[in-house]
Amino acid sequence: MSATSGPPEGTPRRESVLQRRLSLGDMLDVASFTEVVRSFSELYRVGIKVLDTRGTKLADVKVGHGDFCSYVFSFPDGRARCTATVARVKDGPVAPVHGARTAVGEGTDDAGIIALPCFTGLRYLVMPVRWEGDPLGRVILGPFTPEELHDLPPSLTDIQGVDLARAHELMARVRRAPERTAAQVLTHFGQVLGALVASGQRAYLTTQLHIEAMLETHRELELHNAKLAQANTRLKELDRLKSTFLGTVSHELRTPLASIIGYSEMLAEGLAGALNPEQLLYVRTIVEKGESLLNLISSILDLSQIEAGKLRLVIAPVDLGGVIQTAVSSVAPQAQRKGVEVEVRLPHGPQPRLTADADKLRQVMVNLLANAVKFTSSGGRVSVVMSEVGAQSEVGGQGYRVFVEDTGVGIRSDQFEHIFQSFYQVDGSSTREHGGAGLGLAIVKSLVEGHGGRVSVESEFGRGSRFTVVLPLRPPLPEHGLLTAVAPAPETPPGQDRF
Ligand code: ADP
Repeated sequence: MSATSGPPEGTPRRESVLQRRLSLGDMLDVASFTEVVRSFSELYRVGIKVLDTRGTKLADVKVGHGDFCSYVFSFPDGRARCTATVARVKDGPVAPVHGARTAVGEGTDDAGIIALPCFTGLRYLVMPVRWEGDPLGRVILGPFTPEELHDLPPSLTDIQGVDLARAHELMARVRRAPERTAAQVLTHFGQVLGALVASGQRAYLTTQLHIEAMLETHRELELHNAKLAQANTRLKELDRLKSTFLGTVSHELRTPLASIIGYSEMLAEGLAGALNPEQLLYVRTIVEKGESLLNLISSILDLSQIEAGKLRLVIAPVDLGGVIQTAVSSVAPQAQRKGVEVEVRLPHGPQPRLTADADKLRQVMVNLLANAVKFTSSGGRVSVVMSEVGAQSEVGGQGYRVFVEDTGVGIRSDQFEHIFQSFYQVDGSSTREHGGAGLGLAIVKSLVEGHGGRVSVESEFGRGSRFTVVLPLRPPLPEHGLLTAVAPAPETPPGQDRF
């Protein structure tokens, strides 16, 4: 048995979306956002980049300036200056510092739009993206050619190797616009982006909260499952201990009880001197009660062995009719005393033999017959009917069907599924009329199923009951049900398979 400490742990709880700072990418459906940026860029013929605070690009559309920038970039000096400009635009502060100034135009101050010159004379506008006061990233518009630019600036012309005519020609493909107009386009884009972020954030939060709720439910289920698994292991352990305890106690009780019965029988037979009639009556009562007690203890022992998986079937060809006859003869005295008639109907002619454990099948029949006699009052009748061999759907093959019927008290249908449980009695009160411990049918069920068979009950309350046992001609392979079978020995004597 293993000791456990503390409650079982499920999946660790993760930080809620409500506690986390969302990134711009979380709030935008990047694919459709890219489409919006593309159509915007194409409409105004100017490049637009959108970056989050970590510099991750969410959209990047180049329009017009590609050839010019590549040309400049192809010169070592141009490459160095270009890299410095791009670094300032992408990673530098979105504030009028480090070579930037507030862009010209209406509302640019409020929107925080800055203008950044490129050494080529082109220009970028950069606008911060904020949500509820938190920075989420930036939008870069450009480069575009400022309307006032006519001559190439010295920072471009002094780059070694640059062909000015070519540079002019390529620059002409870059959108020329007044800074004020570019700033207006950017402000407009900022409004569209704001609307997209607002709806994206709502959708993202809803989805994430839904996922979180599902995960939380899943986590709770995991915890419950782990607790159930622990409880289950503990119950199995307790059940095993109970079976072991019952087995040990029954075994220890059986030996002295057998001596009590044996000595009482010797007294009753007069081996220790003649007894007077009253003494004889007492001694016979001791024998009778001792035997019922021994039966009870044997049942407990059998059941504990079945539950512990220790019972073995010793199988051999069995004449089922003969087994039934022996079982009937062992309950006959009891039936006679009660005035209950017992009738046996076996098939005519010889029948194929079953491969089974004869002792265990006898025990099945005795338990069913003893119950039938016990629950039938004087003048009633008990019948045992055995079918001819034939196909039995319950066991999926050839086999026999045995009915044990009585005209006794009957069983209510709501009790059918309970009566096969161990220690269950329909009348569980201490004042009940009939003796027993509620083990007989549990043993019947285990033994029949151990043979690959089935047992069932039908009854009309107050009019009688019928138990049906279906047995296959051969039991299935070992390890069936509760019974541990023993593999056949290599040189098995005929008629004595062990499994
Ligand atoms: P026990 O007979 O020792 O009480 P069983 O396991 O054999 O235990 O039976 C369980 C219960 O099923 C009985 O207590 C009884 O209530 C009911 N039962 C079994 N057989 C019959 C029967 N033939 N007629 C009526 N009730 C029955």
